[in-house]
Amino acid sequence: MYRSHNCGELRASHINEEVTLAGWVQKSRDKGFIVWVDLRDRYGITQLVFDEERTSKDMMKKAQNLGREFVIQVKGTVIERASKNPNIPTGDIELLVSELNILNEAKLPPFTIEDKTDGGEDIRMKYRYLDIRRNPVKNSLIFRHKVTQEVRNYLSKQGFIEVETPYLIKSTPEGARDFVVPSRMNEGQFYALPQSPQTFKQLLMVGGMDKYFQIVKCFRDEDLRADRQPEFTQIDCEMAFIEQEDILNAFEGLTRHLLKEINGVDIEKFPRMLYDDAMRLYGNDKPDIRFGMEFGELNQVAQHKDFNVFNSAELVVGIAVPGGNSYTRKEIDKLIDWVKRPQVGALGMVYCRYNEDGSFKSSVDKFYDQDDLAKWAEATKAKPGDLICVLSGETNKVRAQLSALRMELAERLGLRKPNEFAPLWVMDFPLLEWDEETERYHAMHHPFTSPKPGQIELLKTNPGEVKANAYDLVLNGNEIGGGSIRIHDKETQALMFDYLGFTEEEAKAQFGFLMDAFQYGAPPHGGLAFGLDRLVAILGGQETIRDFIAFPKNNAGRDVMIDAPAPIDEEQLQELSLKLNLKS
Ligand code: ASP
Repeated sequence: MYRSHNCGELRASHINEEVTLAGWVQKSRDKGFIVWVDLRDRYGITQLVFDEERTSKDMMKKAQNLGREFVIQVKGTVIERASKNPNIPTGDIELLVSELNILNEAKLPPFTIEDKTDGGEDIRMKYRYLDIRRNPVKNSLIFRHKVTQEVRNYLSKQGFIEVETPYLIKSTPEGARDFVVPSRMNEGQFYALPQSPQTFKQLLMVGGMDKYFQIVKCFRDEDLRADRQPEFTQIDCEMAFIEQEDILNAFEGLTRHLLKEINGVDIEKFPRMLYDDAMRLYGNDKPDIRFGMEFGELNQVAQHKDFNVFNSAELVVGIAVPGGNSYTRKEIDKLIDWVKRPQVGALGMVYCRYNEDGSFKSSVDKFYDQDDLAKWAEATKAKPGDLICVLSGETNKVRAQLSALRMELAERLGLRKPNEFAPLWVMDFPLLEWDEETERYHAMHHPFTSPKPGQIELLKTNPGEVKANAYDLVLNGNEIGGGSIRIHDKETQALMFDYLGFTEEEAKAQFGFLMDAFQYGAPPHGGLAFGLDRLVAILGGQETIRDFIAFPKNNAGRDVMIDAPAPIDEEQLQELSLKLNLKS
């Protein structure tokens, strides 16, 4: 037996017991005549003591030579500590060691294994197994386990069955590039890794599985950001014989359960908002509604004067920044520079101070009098002491820019509180989305999403106007899940592929199996998928997902620990009948 107890377990009630512990040397303090060692494992830290009077010379020497992160096993007696440490659960006791076994020595770690480490992100990722020994990462992984466990329990209790679907498949159109895997046995042919199990879960519905879920890896080859990983995990779900309302209720139930069990937060009914309203009020399809600062559209009240910037704009829109009138001129100039950065892309910003005495002072006083500005204040719900920030230009762009400003200011003002939770359903997304690059419509969600009843005809005349039975679940300004009611008949699905620019042959080659299945009695069905990594991070009060993933990849999609991706040798290439034609 390597250990009788773990390092977080011993208390005053264990005093005088003989125990065996094993773990890593966190640190040691050597006073010559006495050596204290902090022994650490997953569960905590226990202080070991070796002293001249009670410890043999040999063992004393061995103790003095223990290095950081050595793996040791100790036997000894639990004794009361002379000076107690109220900061750790084992702080009342220490272990007087009678036997010390070094199980493995350790090189000096390249960064300190402390909550606040001196290691930067890169080095921590290279030695991730050391990083995982640190509390913040360890606790995040344990937290993730807890969330995952709750999900499995909850859905299982509701009658959902977890079914595994294959990873070596054919392209699924979720809007990213596929990762592909060459097939040795089928020369010149490739599998694609699933961007999601979308088609399989629909086939499970045709197969009569009725209520499916899976905690599953998905793979998308797209440009990475802090909150994106090339492989990530979904809680993927699908139900048959349901309407949209059933899906919303089922997964609102799951989310409510998680918020309650994990965060102790009770949320009655999740509010719902139409996609069009989210865009109008927040310029964003995943609005953070923990704070106000809603958009006020100003076209009506700002386009009647000689200010050409506004007159020529498709949209003039502003927000009121609470207490923003206290900003100095310099601070406002900095804010203007901020919105002009290429990442935001505004051409400029008009502002209006709302003074405590009720008067206004704007950067466009030449064009607008106090009455005009009072109307701006009304439209943006500004109060005395606020600052109204106004952007103008092409509707979609301006909305995105003002949304970026709204989020940035809310962050600076401390309005995005990590322990406050505001879920929101955003509903009725457009079915199609215009893609500037390819100059074509793409499915906004995916091509299996059904249009709203009665709107299929609109596809011919006004495709951009067609709304879908598609919904996203938003939490604190992040999309944590999204899904739709699916098309379940062959004709509509064929029509959809046609509108999306697939020829009949292409549709058949790529999705013939699904169209075939729809001919054998496909039930009405729909579902959604949660992004587990992000969900866990948000429930854990954070927005970056990396620390909630044991072995994440960096922004270049590399695993710097195992050094992947990596070239393969000539023999392997030949076996796969592949020849490289590298660009550089
Ligand atoms: N497959 C979709 C996704 O990955 C989710 C769904 O429609 O159920 O976003």
